[in-house]
Amino acid sequence: MTSTPPSIIAIDGPAASGKSTVGEAVSQRLGFLYFDTGAMYRAVTQAALARGIPIADEAAVGELAATIHIDVMAPTVDDGRQYTVLIDGEDVTWALRTAVVDANVSAVSAYPAVRTALTRQQRRIAAQGRVVMVGRDIGTVVVPEAPLKIYLDASPEERAHRRWLELQQRGQDADPEAILTAMRARDAYDSTRKTAPLRAASDAIIIDTDGMSGGQVVDEVMRLAERFEG
Ligand code: C5P
Repeated sequence: MTSTPPSIIAIDGPAASGKSTVGEAVSQRLGFLYFDTGAMYRAVTQAALARGIPIADEAAVGELAATIHIDVMAPTVDDGRQYTVLIDGEDVTWALRTAVVDANVSAVSAYPAVRTALTRQQRRIAAQGRVVMVGRDIGTVVVPEAPLKIYLDASPEERAHRRWLELQQRGQDADPEAILTAMRARDAYDSTRKTAPLRAASDAIIIDTDGMSGGQVVDEVMRLAERFEG
């Protein structure tokens, strides 16, 4: 690459649109940090469930988000994880990927107090530069100044199929219909919430990944990164 890649690449999109696979591959090619903001919303959800805090108790969940210490770091165990997540020092990486967290995370992430606490931490990480940050509101709210904003999309059927394959590869059996239903519910919740809803920034480049392989999407994002100076 001859040009300087943009110092921050924001990647947003709905569940299983390929953000994590593409984000990780692009960050590796550029030597950037890969940061998945969804892990932080999942961590608050997991902590609330583990501590018996009712998910409907907005004040208590908001307070929790402001007080727990979430660390997202390079993998500490070689078991297929993309990163390690610690809550107050405890490794919760795989506990974040359960169906019960999936079912509750959208409610937690709709709370303004939760978003304020996590957005502040995400901006601090983004300010260090050389980062590929993925989520739902990175290009619209967290770092709207990012020089390159990508919005990955795909049909619900394709995304549900990808999630099903992922679970199969991890040895977990799941009902494809149930995955599709849960995914549609989460997307609807994420897109219609008042604070920082899921949507493409007006200057984001939208890539419809239906029928594309992960490698093709990575190549496309790398091609775009070469065109943007940051
Ligand atoms: O990306 P992932 O599926 O792990 O995200 C889990 C949930 O976290 C999303 O469904 C959404 O409710 C929330 N989220 C968010 N804003 C982000 C990242 C994730 O609201 N930037």
